[in-house]
Formats: sequence, C-alpha cells, structure tokens
Amino acid sequence: MINLLDFKRLHNDFENDLIKAATDVIKSGSYIAGKEVDNFEKNIAEYLDTNHALGVANGTDALVIALRALGVKAGDEVITVSFTYFASAEVISYLGATPIFADVFEDTMCIDYTKIEEKITDKTKCIITVDIFGNPIAYDKVKEICDKHNLKWISDACQAISSEYAGQKVGAQADATCFSFFPTKNLGGLGDGGLITTNSKSLFDIMKGLSRHGSGKLGAIAYKEMNGKDSGIVPGKIGEKYYNYIIGQNSRLDEIQAAMLNVKLKYLDTWTQKRIENVKYFEDNYTGNDIVFPTITPNGKHVFHQLTLKSDRRDEILEELEKNDIAYGIYYPIPLHLQVAFDDLGYKEGSLVVSEKICKQVFSIPCAPELEKEELDKILSVLNKF
Ligand SMILES: *Cc1c(COP(=O)(O)O)cnc(C)c1O
Repeated sequence: MINLLDFKRLHNDFENDLIKAATDVIKSGSYIAGKEVDNFEKNIAEYLDTNHALGVANGTDALVIALRALGVKAGDEVITVSFTYFASAEVISYLGATPIFADVFEDTMCIDYTKIEEKITDKTKCIITVDIFGNPIAYDKVKEICDKHNLKWISDACQAISSEYAGQKVGAQADATCFSFFPTKNLGGLGDGGLITTNSKSLFDIMKGLSRHGSGKLGAIAYKEMNGKDSGIVPGKIGEKYYNYIIGQNSRLDEIQAAMLNVKLKYLDTWTQKRIENVKYFEDNYTGNDIVFPTITPNGKHVFHQLTLKSDRRDEILEELEKNDIAYGIYYPIPLHLQVAFDDLGYKEGSLVVSEKICKQVFSIPCAPELEKEELDKILSVLNKF
C-alpha cells in the first residue's frame, strides 16, 4: 500500500530525538507555558520572519482567536472561500458572524480576487483567505483590496507553512496568519497544535490575553489594548493572577507538542524541497492528456501540502489507484456553501460555479517527502493510463 503519509517512515531517522525531547519534558515537570513553547515561538517567528508568534491549541482556535482579536462579532460579515476545509468558515459562524463566500480561480484554486469587491457591504469586517493545498494566494492583490476598504485580514495558512509569495514566507502579510500543526500538515505535531503570527505587537498582546482566559498580567495588557485605557484594578499583594479582565478562552500549545515541533522544524525545508521535487517528477514524466496538474499562483512558492490534480475522468482514475493499492483523498467533495451546516445561509447550486465544478474534478495523490522512487514510478504508471 502506498499511503498519503507514513509517519513511522518520516520519523524514522530521528525517532530517538523525539523520544528524548518528550522524556525531557516529562522529567521537567513543566507541561504548560514552559521553555519548549518559548523556544518554539522564538524559532518559528524567526523561521517565518514575523515579529510575533503565539502557540495555541490547534489551527481552528488560531482562527477564532485572530477573529476575536480583530474585533469580529455577531452581525459582522466575513468574506472567505467555499473551496476549503470546513474550519475556515466554521469559525465565522461560531462567533455569530456571517460567512460570505467568494469563488476561486479555476487554475490556482485560490480566492478569485477580482470577485472580492462585489461581496463587500457596510457589514464587512474582515477577509479570511486560504492558501489552499500550500499554494499561496495573490497576497499583493488582496492587500490592495483590504487597504482600500479598510478591512481586517486573516490568512488561513494552515496548509501552507513555508510557502512564499514574492520571495517572502507566508506569515506577515495579513494582520494575522494562522497555522495548524495537526499531524498531517507539512509541519505536524504528534497531536493537536496551532500558531498565529503577526507583525503587530498590539494584536499579539490581545491574542495572547484572549488565549489565557483574559487573566493575570496578560489579561490586563489585553484589556488596555482593547479599551485604550487601564482597567483601574489594583490587585494588591496577592497579584493579578485570578483577576480576569476580558472574556477569553483556554487555548495553548503544550510543552510536549512544542518539544516535538522544535525537533521537526529542522527538517521542514528538506521535506518541502522533496515534496516539490516529487511533484516535478510526476509532471515531467506524465504522458497522458486527461489529468491537469496544479497551477502555482504567479510569484508564489507552492509547498504541496496536497498534490491535488483535476480530471473529468476522476472516477476511473480513483478505481485504478485503488486497484494498485495507492491511497488518495478528495479535498474537497462538497463546497462549503452547499454543506448542510450552512443551509441557513441560503446558497443554492449555481451560486459559485467554479468551486462547484472543481469539487467534481479534484483528487489528491501521495507526494510526501518519505516516498521512495519505486513508489513514485508506480503512481506515475497509473497516471499515465489517463
Ligand atoms: C487543518 C486546517 C484548519 C484547522 O486546523 P486544526 O489544527 O485541525 O484545527 C483550518 N483551515 C485549513 C485550511 C486547514 O487545512
């Protein structure tokens, strides 16, 4: 069987480092907000070239906290795409705001920035763009629109760590950029984890306070940033630890996950390079006609979280992959605007024609860094039948 991912194989060369790092945390007796998280936040901010990085519990929380920190609340509208993972829009509804879906480009499958402005109303507060499958959106075009209309902007880069636009790593272009360390992501923990990056100290302080129940010193700082004044509370001798200044939530990256990520971050560039080479190998040696390879956003660096191909003969291809014991995935079979969960938004078939069309064509095949040459050739031989 050729799997989409094989963690055992991926971790094989440094499994002992992971075990040692986990053991060190266990022996340290410090499991939340310790030195591994501090180090990881420092390492990843440097790697992504952003001023601030905040570890949180998962990528979905990263989006929720970023939305809350940017002031998105019930009644607001947030523009995003329908062709993405559910969480990108779920978080908007979770806060009582309304997702407004824009269509994507058929070739890059990223947000069609020429269709954003027609969705803007006086309720529009924010845009969430998605670097789908690791392909960066056209950051400069979206920035122009956000600046012109004074909109807040969150980049959902949960699939795109280490991807680049115009030579700059994704992470500092939007007001806040969200990442996920779900095990299957290009940089995965051994459990859940997430991250928010920003260049704004003020936004960072608010997000940090929000992620810690709005309590203690961090809560007091967040209160001040959000309200433009001190809370006026004088905690006295006991300190402010059990004073709560804002309604926050509990969302933290834990020490063991941070320790795992500190080990794995060192390999990320090598893995990304390998993904790119694997895709190039398929593309250079593909001799058929019925499969469309990904189009990379001009000026972008695609990191192939998924190698997502398109074909009108998808069913036949999937059958052939199955026969050959090659795993595949369909990301995504249903666009979000047609999901039952979003019924009340009132979208109908035909509302977003490109998103609907590509949902019927896409399929993702293995391109993971740990694949062997023979496996690539076996996959290629199936592709070449079409
Ligand atoms: C994985 C993912 C998320 C959510 O991340 P979790 O860590 O699973 O909560 C959000 N958006 C996109 C596009 C993702 O791929």
